Amino acid sequence: MSVVTSLVGFPRIGAGRELKRVIERYWKGQASIEQVRQVAADLRSKHWRLQADRGIDLIASNDFSYYDQMLDTAILLGLVPARYRNLGLGAEDTLFAMGRGYQGPQGDVTALPMKKWFTTNYHYLVPEIEESAQVKLSSSKPFDEYLEARALGIETKPVLIGPYTFLKLARGPQGEVLHYDAGLIDAVAAVYAQVLRRFIELGAQWVQLDEPYLVLDKEEGDISLFKGLYARILPARSSSQGSVKLLLQTYFGHVGDCYETLKLQGFDAIGLDLVEGRDENLAALNRYGVSEGTTIVAGVVNGRNIWRNNYATSLGLIDAVRQVTPRLALSSSCSLLHVPFSLEGENGLDETVQAHIAFAVEKVGELEELAQLADAGESDRRESQVLAANQALFDGKRVQADAAVAARIAGLKAEDYARQPERAQRQELQRTELGLPLLPTTTIGSFPQTREIRAERARLRKGEISQAEYDRYIADCIDQVIAKQEQIGLDVLVHGEFERNDMVEYFGQHLKGFLFTQGAWVQSYGTRCVKPPIVWGDISRAEPITVRWSSYAQSQTQHLVKGMLTGPVTILNWSWPREDVSHELQTQQLSLAIRDEVLDLEAAGIRVIQIDEAALREKLPLRRSDWHTHYLNWAIPAFRLVHSGVKATTQIHTHMCYSEFNDIITDIDAMDADVISFEASRSDLTVLDAIQAAHFETEAGPGVYDIHSPRIPSQVEMEDRIRLILSKMDVSKVWINPDCGLKTRGEAETWPSLEHMVAAARVVRAEL
Ligand code: GLN
Ligand code: ZN
Repeated sequence: MSVVTSLVGFPRIGAGRELKRVIERYWKGQASIEQVRQVAADLRSKHWRLQADRGIDLIASNDFSYYDQMLDTAILLGLVPARYRNLGLGAEDTLFAMGRGYQGPQGDVTALPMKKWFTTNYHYLVPEIEESAQVKLSSSKPFDEYLEARALGIETKPVLIGPYTFLKLARGPQGEVLHYDAGLIDAVAAVYAQVLRRFIELGAQWVQLDEPYLVLDKEEGDISLFKGLYARILPARSSSQGSVKLLLQTYFGHVGDCYETLKLQGFDAIGLDLVEGRDENLAALNRYGVSEGTTIVAGVVNGRNIWRNNYATSLGLIDAVRQVTPRLALSSSCSLLHVPFSLEGENGLDETVQAHIAFAVEKVGELEELAQLADAGESDRRESQVLAANQALFDGKRVQADAAVAARIAGLKAEDYARQPERAQRQELQRTELGLPLLPTTTIGSFPQTREIRAERARLRKGEISQAEYDRYIADCIDQVIAKQEQIGLDVLVHGEFERNDMVEYFGQHLKGFLFTQGAWVQSYGTRCVKPPIVWGDISRAEPITVRWSSYAQSQTQHLVKGMLTGPVTILNWSWPREDVSHELQTQQLSLAIRDEVLDLEAAGIRVIQIDEAALREKLPLRRSDWHTHYLNWAIPAFRLVHSGVKATTQIHTHMCYSEFNDIITDIDAMDADVISFEASRSDLTVLDAIQAAHFETEAGPGVYDIHSPRIPSQVEMEDRIRLILSKMDVSKVWINPDCGLKTRGEAETWPSLEHMVAAARVVRAEL
């Protein structure tokens, strides 16, 4: 008997992204719903077997989803807004309509809003609770999947998003935070109680409720909301039919501020993240102890990164928990949804590298090895081959440090982080030097990446065309997009980013220190997956990256062409970072690499340079007290390091895909860019109030239209939008641009939309 092992959840998209493929084929009418269901069932059975074969004790079921687990939970609770119900579609189609909108014979509805899942790059759908909503158990999915596994001879632990997290993330019809009245709490708790009773009838032994929202700072009323919900749910663990055990699973951080409350509720088990929340969770355990009858599920295998677990470290954590309680189980720190499926078949990485990597399947193996080691005595541990082999991975350096990079970083001085002269003076100089009109118009960088462009890239990869032919093709694309931008009268042009597959991978490919996988996909939202590059060694620029195409574009026009780079924080946040050195250091290395590119662009005659930081907010710590100390204090200077070397007259832009920075507005200003563009067409524009209140110095282009939709906005509606912006911002600081890049759009809507935008800017300009 070794220690009990539990998995919070397993990836569902499939080793070869089978789920993505069949669902997308279904959407195109190329697969039937029965085929979708079959692929889904095959994946579930394969994934359960895989965990069972490796000896995992508490295997999750209901961690599968066609689209998103928050969406499934909304459906389970009967929270399907009327506009989706009224389409009269079948179960799966209603789910897809909520996830991605529906336009067809049955009607026309937009999707539910989508948001980032805590600090991950996974996105969940925001459940909407209508005034008239009737909360009641409305789906049998968790029971069906439990029985499906049972029929395969596999006993599972059904997993659901817990009621507290669900209610904290759900919103009202206008996107407003909910009012948690007794009626709502009762109704939601009643469904969870019913779910537990049903699982007792079915004979389940464990149910896991995920409550990651517990790792956030508590607002007034949060603890009583939590207690109110669970006071109604916990008694349902036993009935005349028997009983079921409840595992309260937390992840992505610590529950130090509420652990005592959790402890007192008498859960059968509490899952704690000992990777991201290690110190505070251990401190809470030591301080408050563990209730009689509660097992602590120690999340020691990182579900958020791809590196091998350090067994010695984990055994230390296990021993630390055992100082407090003998009732211990082991698990991943969070669901393995956030890592790729398996190293098997990964041909992109050589063996010495693979030895250091663990994707989901390998992490399952680690959990089992750890469980055995956890129970081994001193001498067995000492003699363990497994432990010795693991230790060898961490002894010594896995890569040669780059002395030149280290020397450069050691030589950095305060002035390297401060651009001169100060911004107000630069803005003055740039006004004369660049000769732009008031309300200058521009775009965010990319133009439609058509199927033809992707096909051309595939041809180059397969060797069907030469590099010279491909380059000629890219040059043609640039010629065309420059001519069109001139024609519609944009003020600051872009080259269109046709040469890039992806805004992070493309840069990684030109940097030393990065590795790439062939098939290490991770679900990002719905059927969409990302394939982050891996930071393997010290980072530096191998060669100029964008200079060629930016200067080519500039040579084709008299107008200003904006250079287009991805910023250091975003490159790191959308890669797999190293664990042997800090994020701060890796970001600094990236800053220096991108800094070289900025200076080369400037030297090549590019006078406006945009450095995208689309993922800056993503890794903002969940606890406010950590925002600056753990992140902003180095992330913001890292951005300044990228651009501090340019001339006063070179204009630095940045871009963010959201406008959620009211609460960090001074930090955004402290990036010291000359101009920032951001998403604003779908948001409530409170950010403009924040800009006003903070005396925001950076010039700003709040996006005037939504690029996530094929809809063509009218000139008049954009004029109104611009006037609204001008009512809150000084005209000398306003730029006119769309929300984000146009890469995912078609030509058909792109050009008319931009024409309307430019015309709207002209009309408003004439009114000034
Ligand atoms: N420059 C990039 C583009 O236009 C920015 C993309 C992004 O913000 N995600 O596509
Ligand atoms: Zn964007």
